[in-house]
Amino acid sequence: MKVLVADDDPGSLLVARAAVERYGHDCLTAADGDEAWALYLEHQPDVVVTDWMMPGMDGLALCRAIRAREADLYTYIVMLTSQGSRDDVLAGLAAGADDYVTKPLDPFVLHARLLVALRVTTLHADLAHYRKVLSQQARTDPLTGLHNRLKLSEDLEQLHARSQRYTEGYCVAMCDVDHFKSYNDIYGHQAGDLALRAVAEALVGAARKSDGVYRYGGEEFLLVLPNQSQVSAKAFMERALDTVRGLQIVHSGDPLGQLTLSAGISAFTAEHRADADTLLGEADAALYAAKAAGRNRVELAL
Ligand code: GH3
Ligand code: MG
Ligand code: MG
Repeated sequence: MKVLVADDDPGSLLVARAAVERYGHDCLTAADGDEAWALYLEHQPDVVVTDWMMPGMDGLALCRAIRAREADLYTYIVMLTSQGSRDDVLAGLAAGADDYVTKPLDPFVLHARLLVALRVTTLHADLAHYRKVLSQQARTDPLTGLHNRLKLSEDLEQLHARSQRYTEGYCVAMCDVDHFKSYNDIYGHQAGDLALRAVAEALVGAARKSDGVYRYGGEEFLLVLPNQSQVSAKAFMERALDTVRGLQIVHSGDPLGQLTLSAGISAFTAEHRADADTLLGEADAALYAAKAAGRNRVELAL
């Protein structure tokens, strides 16, 4: 572990450093609260052992500053207090300290506290890791690995706010696999799953880095195209449909003999400042028009 010890008493600092290093931890030392805060920001130590009375920022203020700043990582804080100062102990714990040790410092006591610190910081690191994994999982479609609708709504909200502020245009393209029910009926559900994966991969391959590709529902995909006019979005989607045809997934239930996509596009522009839900509805209506016009094509919202 990385341990930061803050104490304005050089003797006490020496004893603490010797104890920390003897038990195999890395030790940083600070002679006052301000230096400790600067070292904390620079090194993100796992543990901070801090004196109570120090010039500049005192131990209590340091505790509060650390607790206010940390997000995912957890810093275990041990306060150094003088014998018999019960009120100080309570104030320190209330300010966010995890534990306290009375001065003069006994190296063995500090060692014992660091064992507990290791357990607690490991637990917090695990929690942060699983929180991140779960958060990613909640935003990912398991079949295709694409972002899902939850992520779409978050991303759209951000993009929409940005676009409104700077009046940048963006488009959304709703895509739907043609005659997919009959594909499943003819080739089976597993083959259908493989086809959806291949289509997803093709769409991601066709998209730019700044575009978003989402699985919207069963065999429906949604593309978010920032900084695109409807005309350029249409040209882009026609290339994307071309890429999907290029997969040459045989489909005897389709008039073309292979799997195709239809798409509908709507746009947020300076003249059409519709909210995100309205845009999705308009893209869906344009998709419906593409289906009605014979499928395997891109239509623009009216
Ligand atoms: P259209 O050309 O009008 O879009 O017709 P369609 O048959 O594609 O549309 P419909 O909505 O009737 O059928 C969609 C099919 O997609 C039905 C459903 O079983 C299938 N589907 C949805 N999700 C999945 C999935 O995850 N895996 C597989 N294999 N099939 C799926
Ligand atoms: Mg559908
Ligand atoms: Mg379909």
